[in-house]
Amino acid sequence: MAAVVVTGAASGIGRASAQALVADGRQVVLWDLAPEVTAVAAELGMPGAVVDVTDTAATAAAIQRLDGVDGLVHAAGRVIPEPVGAYTVESWDAVLDVNLRAQAMLVQQLLPQLEASARAGGTPAVVGISSIEGLTANPFIPAYCASKAGLLGLTRSMAAQLGPSGIRINAVCPGFIRTPMLQIALDVDEVRESFVAAAPLGRIGDPEEVAAAVAFLMSPKASFITGTYLVVDGGVTSRHA
Ligand code: NAD
Repeated sequence: MAAVVVTGAASGIGRASAQALVADGRQVVLWDLAPEVTAVAAELGMPGAVVDVTDTAATAAAIQRLDGVDGLVHAAGRVIPEPVGAYTVESWDAVLDVNLRAQAMLVQQLLPQLEASARAGGTPAVVGISSIEGLTANPFIPAYCASKAGLLGLTRSMAAQLGPSGIRINAVCPGFIRTPMLQIALDVDEVRESFVAAAPLGRIGDPEEVAAAVAFLMSPKASFITGTYLVVDGGVTSRHA
């Protein structure tokens, strides 16, 4: 059975997405920079590998070891809180490389397998994890905001090109979700309370609630949905729509 590659699968939203896809009966391959990915994969009974998604030689080698691929969930990501005046070429590239460039390169590298899946009657799909920070202004993390807005543009462009081949590409825009990435902010009472207050649903989200949206967009139930994004934010952005 062809597999869905899930990046950032050792933790948070990537890990929960891998779990949700397995619960849907999908074959999943888990990749992450963090060595914990092998234990997470073993728990799910799926293959896992330490792969740096910004290293195109490493991703090409890892793809060669796979039998067939019918999907990609790109959840690997990082944030470096540096406003204008603080970021460097190196820190800017570090954020853009994993959040944005990696998805562009991975879809390109996986294209022959995604096309083969479509030709064989499969329903290949890609979901990238963007963010509400790609839709609204956050003054503290310009590189992150640019990467997440860029991912939405990439999603639309790729969907337009690959739709005729039967390959769907969408994004999910999470709000404030309880994962290791957000933990530093959640540990500060005033910041956590501001996140809770911003959401009409009045709480921080769980990674499983994002994973449910990812699994839906990856499934044949979303067969007429491509080139768009699904916001999973407890209503935060609805206040500004
Ligand atoms: P997380 O830190 O729990 O998970 C991110 C994972 O990405 C980590 O396991 C990390 O090792 C992996 N990773 C980082 N660089 C990598 C690389 N070069 N190659 C392979 N793996 C790499 O954080 P999370 O919150 O689950 O983040 C998942 C995605 O969701 C990210 O793209 C993040 O920007 C996005 N997001 C998170 C939130 C939130 O509130 N937590 C909100 C919106 C969007």
